[in-house]
Amino acid sequence: MEKIASFQVDHTKFGVGMYISRVDGDIVTYDVRMVKPNGGVYVSNPSLHTIEHLFATFARNSRFKDSIIYVGPMGCRTGFYLITRDDMSGADAIALVREAYSFIADYNDAIPGCTAVECGNYLEHDLDSAKKDVLPLLKVLENYNEEMLDYAYHMSRN
Ligand SMILES: [Zn+2]
Repeated sequence: MEKIASFQVDHTKFGVGMYISRVDGDIVTYDVRMVKPNGGVYVSNPSLHTIEHLFATFARNSRFKDSIIYVGPMGCRTGFYLITRDDMSGADAIALVREAYSFIADYNDAIPGCTAVECGNYLEHDLDSAKKDVLPLLKVLENYNEEMLDYAYHMSRN
């Protein structure tokens, strides 16, 4: 089988940030990278799960809700996939993640969808860790722009 596009990006060349993974017609997939790939520190599964619930809830209630296709965790536990329609610009995607992660950092309420009826593993959550784990990406996104969404931008600098 052919190696899929996302495995062809050199994962040793970039760190925490947001990147366009692929564009399929009018659908854009972003890699929302919260820790450095193969950096030895990964987001724990309970934290990733809590961030998933809060990130998805925030995105689907935001001003961009009609453009959100999917929000979900990476199996490598280094971040999230955000899939949008292309009527949402790269700057919009950066703004959304910044707002969603700020929302999570300050969240002190019941985790949405956290019951046996609504979730497949509702006991496996960790809000305290989630609130801390969103901070490194939030910091990086303070000074982020559309140009930096391109993996090539980072390949040439590292
Ligand atoms: Zn769940």
